[in-house]
Amino acid sequence: MHLTEVYQIYPTERECIIFLEKMRWDGLPRCPYCKSHRSTFLTKEGRHHCNGCNVSYSVTVGTVFHRTHLPLQKWFLAASLIIGNEQDIPIRQLACDLQVAKNTASYIFARISRALYRSDQRQLLQDISCRTSDLIVLAIEQRTETTTWQTWQR
Ligand SMILES: [Zn+2]
Repeated sequence: MHLTEVYQIYPTERECIIFLEKMRWDGLPRCPYCKSHRSTFLTKEGRHHCNGCNVSYSVTVGTVFHRTHLPLQKWFLAASLIIGNEQDIPIRQLACDLQVAKNTASYIFARISRALYRSDQRQLLQDISCRTSDLIVLAIEQRTETTTWQTWQR
């Protein structure tokens, strides 16, 4: 059991987007600017073009994931780890789990922690982590066992 298995729940960026679209719009795209449902899907960009106000938008507008260059998969895993840990996860550990730099991990941690104070965002993050929770719990438990075992070996 390894954390990479958690990625299998959301295997691609597209999968993450589909999940967000289902949660936020119930599958029917809605323009965040003019609230119109009339849109054209832009396959290449994975975004929607609004036929009401002529702008393009993605499902991440207004969420904690908006305007970040990090893959959604990493955000989803981060949310799962932060919500799944009873105590605050150490930044060093989060960086290691996500395979990002420590600064990036701090940024992610701060952003998700803040978002958890907003009820709509918290709901979304909980829905994401809900699907991965069994795997996360296993991964965290096994990590603890390995650590303990290594300490004992010394
Ligand atoms: Zn619009």
